[in-house]
Amino acid sequence: MAPVRARLAGAVLILSPLTGPAGCASRRPLTAPAGIAAASLADTSFRWIERTAPGFRVHIQTGSYAAAHQDSLVARLPSAAAHARELIGAPQLAGPIDLFFIESRTEMNRLIGTRRATGFAEPSSRTVLVMTNAGWRAFERHEVMHVVAGQAWGPAAPGTDWLVEGLAQAADGFCAGHPNEEVAWALARRHGWIPLRDVLTRFRAQPDLRAYLQAAAFTAFLLHEAGPDALRDLWRHGATAATPVAGRTLAEQEARWRTGVSSDWTPAPGQLDRIEVVGCGEA
Ligand SMILES: [Zn+2]
Repeated sequence: MAPVRARLAGAVLILSPLTGPAGCASRRPLTAPAGIAAASLADTSFRWIERTAPGFRVHIQTGSYAAAHQDSLVARLPSAAAHARELIGAPQLAGPIDLFFIESRTEMNRLIGTRRATGFAEPSSRTVLVMTNAGWRAFERHEVMHVVAGQAWGPAAPGTDWLVEGLAQAADGFCAGHPNEEVAWALARRHGWIPLRDVLTRFRAQPDLRAYLQAAAFTAFLLHEAGPDALRDLWRHGATAATPVAGRTLAEQEARWRTGVSSDWTPAPGQLDRIEVVGCGEA
């Protein structure tokens, strides 16, 4: 996100100019950086501080906010991966995640060609880009979940953007310091819920913040009610309102979720306005 600002889902396949023929790849170690990670490291306009953590190669933009806070940022990565794996019962990854901390949308644009995203994941190469600075927290749990789910379950079926982003944002858990569900509820009181048919078929056409948080809250409910194997089946085969999930249709599950969701949180005047303008990541 910003997870909630990102248009580029982890499921988007981006071909890197450095993706060579199989004959070239076979001469490299299996765990060498690939895809966007390899392209980013080959970009001579960037200089990176190299760190490692269990399961991660961490590349930190020199002179950045992340460079000044690298110890705390690096220290929280292994728990992000463990949390994502635990949520969906995923096995250990086959190799390390190449995770890049960058300063701003300017660098994001230079690396992946869009300013819209403040986070990016390429599951096939286990690459994550995370923007963080004094005014924006890192959404590493969101982006790492894209990689963990993509590696465990393979490419997501067409029409599952709501699930791909819902699962990632559910793994992050928070928006502007509040649980996803609280902010989703407050937004629904203001705007109403996005109809399920639009969530399922026109997810990317919805307002990012509301769509991501609503999908996150619903996905967390499904994960609790039906378990990760049921979500994996939706991920791989897609879903309509009539798709059975744990003995009910998806539409019936969504109705149960809406009936049960509530929150005591009353945003301060202007607080929800601010979240709607800037997104979930304001530090
Ligand atoms: Zn995402």
